Amino acid sequence: MNHQHHGSPHEQHQHQHGHHDHNAHHRMMIQDFKRRFYITLVLSVPVLALAPLIQNALGYQLGFPGSQWLVFALSSIIYVYGGWPFLKGLVTEVRAKTPGMMTLIGVAISVAYFYSAAVSFGLQGTPFYWELATLIAIMLAGHWIEMASVLGASSALEELAQLMPATAHKSVKGEWTDVSIESIEPGDRLLIKAGEKIPADGVVESGSSYLDESMLTGESRPVGKEPGDKVVGGSVNGDSSLEMTVQGSGEDSYLSQVIRLVRDAQAVKSRTQALSDKAAFWLTILALSVGTITMVSWLVAGMDLQFSIARMATVMIITCPHALGLAIPLVVSVSTSASAKNGLLIKNRTAFENARRITTLVFDKTGTLTQGVFQVSAIHSLADPGKTEEDILTLAASLETYSEHPIGASILQEARKRNLRLQDAQDTQILKGKGITGAIDGNTTGVFSPGHLETLGIPLPETLPAPDGGTTRVYLVQEHTLLGAIDLSDRIRPESKSAITSLQEQGIACWMLTGDNEATARAVSDQLGMDGYFAQVLPDQKQDKIRSLQESGEYVAMVGDGVNDSPALAQAQVGIAIGSGTDVAAASADIVLVQSDPRDVATLIRFGKATHRKMIQNLIWATGYNLLAIPLAAGVLFPLGIMLSPEVGAILMSLSTVIVAINARLLRLKRT
Ligand code: ADP
Ligand code: MG
Repeated sequence: MNHQHHGSPHEQHQHQHGHHDHNAHHRMMIQDFKRRFYITLVLSVPVLALAPLIQNALGYQLGFPGSQWLVFALSSIIYVYGGWPFLKGLVTEVRAKTPGMMTLIGVAISVAYFYSAAVSFGLQGTPFYWELATLIAIMLAGHWIEMASVLGASSALEELAQLMPATAHKSVKGEWTDVSIESIEPGDRLLIKAGEKIPADGVVESGSSYLDESMLTGESRPVGKEPGDKVVGGSVNGDSSLEMTVQGSGEDSYLSQVIRLVRDAQAVKSRTQALSDKAAFWLTILALSVGTITMVSWLVAGMDLQFSIARMATVMIITCPHALGLAIPLVVSVSTSASAKNGLLIKNRTAFENARRITTLVFDKTGTLTQGVFQVSAIHSLADPGKTEEDILTLAASLETYSEHPIGASILQEARKRNLRLQDAQDTQILKGKGITGAIDGNTTGVFSPGHLETLGIPLPETLPAPDGGTTRVYLVQEHTLLGAIDLSDRIRPESKSAITSLQEQGIACWMLTGDNEATARAVSDQLGMDGYFAQVLPDQKQDKIRSLQESGEYVAMVGDGVNDSPALAQAQVGIAIGSGTDVAAASADIVLVQSDPRDVATLIRFGKATHRKMIQNLIWATGYNLLAIPLAAGVLFPLGIMLSPEVGAILMSLSTVIVAINARLLRLKRT
């Protein structure tokens, strides 16, 4: 499967249909394998019952005049009908010059069939009919199981992706109201805040910003958007807010985004998966050459054609990397389904499997370790003549309407609770990690962090009491005059403590990285027993902190939720986004915790380790068996009287397939 991004966003609808077709096609293939398997199974019964070897083994006699022709006829049907997918695959692979599993299976069943047919028509020797029938049945079953579990994993993923919170801010009677994306219709006017995904296709009405369209076009350079420009559902907004009018339907766009997410998540193979493909390729080459060499050597050594062909067929049957073909895909599908069911959306499998390497975990504070839902605990009026609390809150909330930050949302919430009438704010601009500015009634207004206030050179009145630890304070400034301060308190998520403890038990150091003030950072860090914290870190410095940890030899994972976290999420070896956070964080992360539970980080790391372990075990089971059996099948130990017959070869092969399949099924996700 080739999952390249299309060149133009206009092709996205085509994209979507392509996926539906693809899924339906996948389902049809599964049905097809299933039907071929059952028919082959039924036809195999008389072939097995009439096989002399089985009769000897079970001690019965069965046969009638012409029974060998019945066996020949049934086997021919099995070869052509049951073997068809493999013969077709052989042709495709050879044409594409990428011989793989299908080539090997195709060659093995063809050798077995034509040799046996030759025996039926008079060649001296013993036919392989029952081995042929069992081999084809096993191969069909294997492919059927594999395809079905891949489909199962993708529907689990799809369900999960639909759980991702998806709301848009729609203008209802002049007020921005949060609505679900499915309900959006052409003509709706929407507000897109910084770091949010564009929920549907449309046109920019006001504001200007840069959009990241890379999820649509593969081009990662941000694209500037002005009023009148078209925007496409699924692209992610940059640092400013925009207003747009919807042209497409929200539901279509939403579904295609979910589908795209799932498809992208499955398209990217991890390094372990690539390793198994490579192993399959080399085993195929090995099998074909060792098979040929075996036959030629035995002929040269003076053995008859019957013996030599039997050895060649055995080698090929044994080397069929069937177990290998299943080894990794089965683990991947079990692991994908289990993680999806537990709220882990894995976008990058390599990062997930590398979770075992993590030595340091860096957590963002607001919205990650804390709930990111602030309560306004105090409002201080600082100007002379002083503004009322309500006026201060109104001005702040009017700006914060355009902010995606938890502080902004909480201030807005408080204003709504008090039924305040908000004012229009123009030219709002997000100062990442510092606050927000804009114009209200023509006056430049801002809500700022203490750090930014200091940078602006605005002094604090001495009468203002210092906030106690754990309180976040922001300042309202208009035309360079400090009007007031708003104190906010956040709550630590109840799950955070046990998340940190269980990570530390796994030997991982836990650090906190926040743009908030020192006192609050210390209070949270102490309460959670973290290994340390970095406070008042600006967004670009967050990335630098991660880099310097990496340079000192740490393998770093970052957990975050905000616009300001996304560069750090991308920088970390494993980037983990909180599901309730911004879309841009989810877009830059490798893994999304859809349930927004920090304990899932520990679960995820443990499960990443378990998944990787299973893959390696399965690789060993699958190839180790091959490597051991090939020389035996070739007859290397024949002089000592030890030799692998084709039937024993087929049994061992199915055994190794079964072991690999059961081993994959035993993968369990243990919650922390
Ligand atoms: P964190 O790293 O903890 O998520 P941020 O880097 O997002 O914090 O924010 C750092 C500080 O910047 C906040 O504590 C606050 O003082 C200020 N800030 C950020 N966004 C806003 C906003 N929309 N309104 C007011 N203050 C803000
Ligand atoms: Mg945050």
